[in-house]
Amino acid sequence: MGSVAIWWIRRDLRMVDNRALSAALRRSESVVPLFVIDPRLTGRSELRESFLYDGLRSLSEDISARNGRLIVRTGNPGQVIPALARDLGAVDVFAEEDFTPFAKKRDALVGSTVKLNLSRGLSVHHPDALVRKTGEPYKTYSPFRKMWTSLTIESAVGMGHMDLNTPQNIETETIPTPRMICDWPAGQTAAMKRLCEFVEICSGSLWEYESERGRLDMTSSSLLSPYLRFGMLSASESVRRVQAIDFDTDSDLGRSASSWIDELIWRDFYQSSLYHRPELASQTIRGEMKNFPWRDERSELERWKTGMTGYPVVDASMRQLSQTGWINNRARMIVASFLTKHLLIDWRQGAEWFMRHLVDGDTASNAGGWQWVAGTGNDAAPFFRIFSPVLQGKKFDPDGRFVKKWLPELSAIPIEFAHEPWNWSLLPSTGYPNPVVDHRYARARALDAFKASRATRKQVTR
Ligand code: FAD
Repeated sequence: MGSVAIWWIRRDLRMVDNRALSAALRRSESVVPLFVIDPRLTGRSELRESFLYDGLRSLSEDISARNGRLIVRTGNPGQVIPALARDLGAVDVFAEEDFTPFAKKRDALVGSTVKLNLSRGLSVHHPDALVRKTGEPYKTYSPFRKMWTSLTIESAVGMGHMDLNTPQNIETETIPTPRMICDWPAGQTAAMKRLCEFVEICSGSLWEYESERGRLDMTSSSLLSPYLRFGMLSASESVRRVQAIDFDTDSDLGRSASSWIDELIWRDFYQSSLYHRPELASQTIRGEMKNFPWRDERSELERWKTGMTGYPVVDASMRQLSQTGWINNRARMIVASFLTKHLLIDWRQGAEWFMRHLVDGDTASNAGGWQWVAGTGNDAAPFFRIFSPVLQGKKFDPDGRFVKKWLPELSAIPIEFAHEPWNWSLLPSTGYPNPVVDHRYARARALDAFKASRATRKQVTR
């Protein structure tokens, strides 16, 4: 047997534009693609696990087509990888770098026992390239974006005609069968198909992205987040595809393309923020919000989780989330704002619930998104900007189709009451609740709490 390398797959379930795989192929005659099921990471979200395992099955087929064999092992990578490397006589292990605090610690441990070569790929640009001249990371989005757009996006890496030539005699476990069925087709082929459909000249929703992306009653965004989460699609490839379209920057298409790329820059911003400040995942970043008087109201939290707050746009979003594992960005902002500002419940409670249900649940984007909405992040919406659930509903679900779809109790509600059901005389017979809190009262309470939090901060820092 010639030289052998391990390609340790974590959240890069693709063979297209994969630097770790490419490096492994260049360095060795045979490559062993390995996925380690780490029990510390399982049991967090059945849906996400199901999507992951479907993705592994699809990747396994792609690997077989290149004379390879996916090897699956369960255990702590700190033990599994050195043991397999020893058995195979493999010197090098190649993997795509991940930025979560957990991944960094894990990789440091594995790297102390084997030669672990980490490649870029999770974000379009590496966080180390996105810093000020002083080496300081950016705290806010605008200068980060300016820096990001000044960098050149590297071209895709290919596999050429190279095969993996995985040795045949390596023991493997079977990919687990998920307990829950995931409706999202997994894998790089499905991801690429979705990307192509999104940018399709005649029918792709990219064309209306700028104007329609917030709409709750239609699908106007790309639906690519689960694929990007598990690296079934590379973020760089997504940007390159859109940049390759021939458009006038002043046209509707140009504006849509640029606002879509902006969202991928936000993704890089949160990945980079987590890389430089691991506390983003679990701690309030903004000083004046550190002593915010969050309320510990279990029953209200429960009403939020189950979609029973009495505000249709919030409840429809929460029910869509638990039934499908995905809601659009506007719905995420509306429910996150409601939890943190109307109910004054800690953003971490909401972030945890999201991570349990989202098929695209990602530590950086999730914590970043929550801290943005809650006003606790470095670059965040000001706390005093409080959404009215009624106005948000009327604007982004003007015909009430979204609320009627997810709230069967309101299927017969006339349009004029769809976002204010408490004015509908038949409401008591439907079983749908009255609002958990009055909007005006909640708004005033939130502003008082914010003032109190700022005052405490001033006293502490004086
Ligand atoms: P599109 O609008 O088509 O955008 C394309 C891609 O850009 C997305 O797939 C995603 O990777 C990225 N993106 C879009 N919006 C954002 C954003 N605001 N921040 C960071 N990246 C973005 N996204 C996740 O991938 N995982 C999460 O766990 C997550 N949690 C969130 C929690 C909150 C409270 C909020 C407000 C946002 C969260 N987002 C999260 C960001 C965003 O809502 C989703 O990425 C987006 O709705 C996914 O749909 P799409 O693929 O159709 O997005």
